[in-house]
Amino acid sequence: MAEYKCSKCGRIIYSDELSLKAKCPHCSNKILIKLRPKVVKKIIAR
Ligand SMILES: [Zn+2]
Repeated sequence: MAEYKCSKCGRIIYSDELSLKAKCPHCSNKILIKLRPKVVKKIIAR
């Protein structure tokens, strides 16, 4: 799941909250900053 941060109010918005409209549900700002997903890839050292 992708996370976005509103550039205006600074709230975190998840991609399922956005549906198809890329705007902040809190302040209707259209500029959202995409955050990196919190997925840590494990690298197995051999
Ligand atoms: Zn906002």
